[in-house]
Amino acid sequence: MDFTFSPEHVQLRETVRRHAEAEMKPHAAEADDTERFPPHLFRRWGELGLLGARYPEADGGVGMDKVSDCIIREEIARVSQAFCGAYSAHSHLGIWPIWRAGTEMQKAEYFRPALAGEKVACFGLSEPDGGSNIRAMKTRAEKVEGGYRLNGAKLYITNSPMADFMLLAARTAPDLKPWAISLFIVRLPDAAVHISHLKKEGLKGSETGLIAIEDLFVPDDHVLGEREGTYPVILDSLTENRVGVAASVLGLAKGAYEEALDYARTRIVAGKPILQYQAVAHRLADMITDIEAAHWMVYHGAWKVDQGTIDHASAAKIKLFASEAALRVTEGAMRVLGGASIMREYSVGRHHRDALVYLFGEGTSDVQRNLISRGMGQEDYLP
Ligand SMILES: Cc1cc2nc3c(=O)[nH]c(=O)nc-3n(C[C@H](O)[C@H](O)[C@H](O)COP(=O)(O)OP(=O)(O)OC[C@H]3O[C@@H](n4cnc5c(N)ncnc54)[C@H](O)[C@@H]3O)c2cc1C
Repeated sequence: MDFTFSPEHVQLRETVRRHAEAEMKPHAAEADDTERFPPHLFRRWGELGLLGARYPEADGGVGMDKVSDCIIREEIARVSQAFCGAYSAHSHLGIWPIWRAGTEMQKAEYFRPALAGEKVACFGLSEPDGGSNIRAMKTRAEKVEGGYRLNGAKLYITNSPMADFMLLAARTAPDLKPWAISLFIVRLPDAAVHISHLKKEGLKGSETGLIAIEDLFVPDDHVLGEREGTYPVILDSLTENRVGVAASVLGLAKGAYEEALDYARTRIVAGKPILQYQAVAHRLADMITDIEAAHWMVYHGAWKVDQGTIDHASAAKIKLFASEAALRVTEGAMRVLGGASIMREYSVGRHHRDALVYLFGEGTSDVQRNLISRGMGQEDYLP
């Protein structure tokens, strides 16, 4: 067993941290206030190779591994989970299925420009009636001459107000079976797709939309892989991304912990730094223990992705633990800062609001528990 990061991984972390501190952090609070994502970041991430880090060079990526992708997400989320939410929707959810199952034309027209940050992607899966219950999806794709006609609605779609295309899930048959759900690439803007910008209480520096789709025509060559029934690709994509999302909430937890520790060292109450009060030190001890546990779960999961051995239950455990831990850590950070945590000059309040979103985003904690418990009772269930 070897728990060390390679020199390349260490260097990547330093590079992304420098970029995040210099070019992202200055925009984080303003994006949170205005509820607008700084659009130039996609281009910049493309120039730096961050969007294509996880994809092979032969496909236009940088040829790094999932561990690298997790390091990048951690470092972005350490300054802004909202920015990392936009990164995740773009660099994974909106394009990973195209990389995995798309045609050459689909890769050339959508995947590669997205890696460069030239086109912004989003992923339309959740619906007003079916966030947790994907199989009950109502958006319908009806076969017509030369393509499909789509009608339906999508809810809480990250990046959609600013996206150039959406990878959209729709039902191609009425059956509640996996093969009845397919993926479509939808160019945006389109008069048949109405997107309204949602106001939020968390992840405010990313842009989220409610989408109404009315008689949208999608040509045959824009059906992912030019075939129906790509639901299993969605499941594999979500499983891998749960590890990435766990890395990002780990990053936001680290950001909150660092701010709390710094504050505890310098805040003097009754003549001594509050870090010298056992109650405060113990709180920080619990926070760093949570962070360390989440850290090793995330990087073990990333390693499993790289080995091709990640499974739905393992990814669900990692996402469940990391997101609940991030909530505990950010709340702990607020308690350490006391009244200061409510003030905008500190980040812990924003980190805490953002952590709350990940009790639901990418599948709620209850849905993760469903995925984890599904394999229970089988002989090889324990790791
Ligand atoms: C800021 C934000 C950004 C998002 N971005 C995207 C995006 O880009 N693309 C996208 O497709 N989706 C996106 N989502 C949607 C997200 O994935 C859903 O919110 C999530 O899947 C939960 O669905 P829901 O909110 O409809 O909750 P519901 O499904 O209504 O669940 C409500 C409650 O019931 C519980 N529950 C429901 N079903 C079960 C069950 N079977 N067993 C146990 N408990 C259950 C849930 O755990 C939860 O506590 C985003 C959400 C947010 C908040």
